[in-house]
Amino acid sequence: MIQTEAIVLHGFDYRETSRIVRLATREAGVVSVIARGAKRPRSRFGLGLDLFTSGVAHLTINAGRDLHTLTGFDATRSRPELAASLERFAASAALGELCLRFASEDEGGAIHDALAAGLDAIGVAGDSAVGGQALSAAWRLVGELGFAPALDRCAVCHRALAADEVVRFGHRSGGVLCRACAALVPGARTLPAEARLALLSWSRDEEAPALDPPTLRAHLRLLREFVEEHLGDGRALRAWASWEASHR
Ligand SMILES: [Zn+2]
Repeated sequence: MIQTEAIVLHGFDYRETSRIVRLATREAGVVSVIARGAKRPRSRFGLGLDLFTSGVAHLTINAGRDLHTLTGFDATRSRPELAASLERFAASAALGELCLRFASEDEGGAIHDALAAGLDAIGVAGDSAVGGQALSAAWRLVGELGFAPALDRCAVCHRALAADEVVRFGHRSGGVLCRACAALVPGARTLPAEARLALLSWSRDEEAPALDPPTLRAHLRLLREFVEEHLGDGRALRAWASWEASHR
């Protein structure tokens, strides 16, 4: 039996009265749990298992199985504000998807904490600021997963790059490329100086500028392609792609 802070990322009904829920936990990474009786009126889970709610999960780990047992969930923070606009919801689902797909382990709870901070930032952002907040959190998650891209030095030759230097971004190379190295890497994308500045400010957890729709779309695509290259297993990032498509 463990008790751990957790965030509800997904849930569906199971049989008459139960729910199966996926939680991003601080102690055990993302886990699937069964909440028996969760659909009964006056269930001990109450309304605590709503999407994106934070709380303390009481888990019985079933060794050798992928489905564990949730014996209690003390909600500490529900996040109804994330459903208040399509933009917030799409951004939250995209962050959740990164965790669901790639955070089966969470060393020291850093992924859980980055997710919680990202959801809170999205929850107070106006629609035009949601994209920047979500991208900032998403790149932090990518970094916690061990794949922070090179941004201030060329990913191949490690030469320091001037802030206004025109660079390219090579997904497979793992970040930005100087002109000489980019010439040797087919398919590297041009990365405008403002775009690199935005990536740098997100990686430092600084305030980033608001993004107009075409710029936001380009950033969403850059992140999706980078994640698919480094973390992906060939399956599309559906929540991410549908958020991106909503900006066409
Ligand atoms: Zn180089």
